[in-house]
Amino acid sequence: MSKYLTLGKFSFGMGDRFAHQGRAQLRACVLAAELGAEVVPVWNKSNREHTFIGTDPASLRAEAEAAVKALGWQQPYHVDADHIRLETVDRFIAPSDFFTIDVADTIGKAAAAGDVKAFVDRHPELAGRLTIPRMGQPLDISRAEVERVANKFLLAVQDAGRIYRHIAAAKGEANFITEVSMDETDSPQTPPELLVILAALADEQIPLQTIAPKFTGRFNKGVDYAGDLAQFEKEFNDDLAVIAFAIQQYGLPASLKLSVHSGSDKFSIYEPIRKALKKFDAGLHLKTAGTTWLEELIGLAEAGGDGLEIARDIYAYAIQHVDEFCAPYATVIDIDRQKLPTATAVNGWNSNQFVSALRHDRTNPAYNPSFRQLLHVSFKVAAKMGERYYSALQKHESVIARNVTENLFDRHMKPLLLGRHENEKPAHRCEAVPA
Ligand SMILES: [Zn+2]
Repeated sequence: MSKYLTLGKFSFGMGDRFAHQGRAQLRACVLAAELGAEVVPVWNKSNREHTFIGTDPASLRAEAEAAVKALGWQQPYHVDADHIRLETVDRFIAPSDFFTIDVADTIGKAAAAGDVKAFVDRHPELAGRLTIPRMGQPLDISRAEVERVANKFLLAVQDAGRIYRHIAAAKGEANFITEVSMDETDSPQTPPELLVILAALADEQIPLQTIAPKFTGRFNKGVDYAGDLAQFEKEFNDDLAVIAFAIQQYGLPASLKLSVHSGSDKFSIYEPIRKALKKFDAGLHLKTAGTTWLEELIGLAEAGGDGLEIARDIYAYAIQHVDEFCAPYATVIDIDRQKLPTATAVNGWNSNQFVSALRHDRTNPAYNPSFRQLLHVSFKVAAKMGERYYSALQKHESVIARNVTENLFDRHMKPLLLGRHENEKPAHRCEAVPA
């Protein structure tokens, strides 16, 4: 591993499906910096999102650069080709400097038997009793267990190596950040599995900056974490211990850190994450995506008039296409259909009713997570509206931008980086920041 681009200690992945909120998102990073929390903004968009919306990866780079210029941002920032694979990466190579290599599809498929044996033979240190600093208990991994894990993950790691080398050949290895993601799969990776995976990734000579495992529990789109919090906290701490150990043991980059593909809004795990990061003096990449699209809808609804009308129309279309919109996201949404209001009911709602149902404020009794999740996966409707949607974004820019900035800053960055709860009264109002 020679030269490679490194990622700052704390970084925030921000999705912006319709490419209008770059400045409002970056403003959240400016506010965090003012309070002493340095956050590297990373704009991420997956191939799937580009395809649904009909955009090109170069448009994300253009948006990021425009935001950086408008706000005079002097710190690093990156453009992430999110969840790419060998067959989708090419059009991302020029405009991106961060690549999330998704190998979930090959997890569980067997690598060549000879490769598995060679891996196990090469890593006798993994078998037996391993004492990992700052991990509560020693790890006992048998040789058979190392072999089982290699059988499950080695092909995926080899796949990551192929994709990494493809990007490096085209772009130059010094010019990008590499993440490997394994989150979009059925079962979580345990800390011992993560250790074996990291050993294999080091063998592939990937200068890994971030790794996105699948954590225990459900990371549904746009709503809070669902799972055993104590179990998550233990696993997250053990993962940090494993990463620190693997950096030493296998010569992985010192800046290697966890990437949490949050599906947005996992508020209840922010405090355990913050405590663990502090304990380990570790960094974090937190990826959010759809939360900004929902703030656009909230801003439109709040604006009233034609803005509210668009928000209602999007819901009316979405409720007629529930099955179609939910199918691709079956593993990452939990919608209670009984709780979905009818289109007729929503057409009678005023701004406040719409916003209260949609905004992720757990203290508001009118907040409706099923309504929110359905709209989260319905961004294609806005894409189909085309000009009507885009011109409304422009017309109501100020109210939307305020919602986008406050959401990222107050609900995400503050609790995660500054240890303040999202329901605390904001210490710093975003309106005070010049546009
Ligand atoms: Zn992901």
